Amino acid sequence: MGFNRRKMEDQRRHAAEKEAAARRATDAQVLEDAERLIGVWNERQAKRMPLLFAPTIGAAIASRHWFLWVRCPACRTTQAIDLRTLDRHRDAAVTSLIPSLSCRSCRPNAPFAELVRLSRTSIADEMRIEHTRRMLGE
Ligand SMILES: [Zn+2]
Repeated sequence: MGFNRRKMEDQRRHAAEKEAAARRATDAQVLEDAERLIGVWNERQAKRMPLLFAPTIGAAIASRHWFLWVRCPACRTTQAIDLRTLDRHRDAAVTSLIPSLSCRSCRPNAPFAELVRLSRTSIADEMRIEHTRRMLGE
């Protein structure tokens, strides 16, 4: 391998390493932002404050908030939708899912579903955690 070729390969490797580092930094920043935005959104939803913004499906998935908890205002049933299983654009806001989340048992006159929160756990997980806590007497 000639000197120039080696030098070019060194430069290429250096550029690739720099790019990878930049991407890692961006990923970390995206994660941090997503985490913060979802925290604020969850808090606003819990307090039933007017909607000012909604996280995207991509932001929820990136920060591992895979479950969107949804409540039917009519029968008060809460269910958790696993966002990973949906064939939706990642840049769509979670609120874009509302029309398709109407409660099955209240059809055909189901009201629009209410978005409760984005969560790292499903309702089944939560019940299991709650059960374990009770068992441990916490
Ligand atoms: Zn219902």
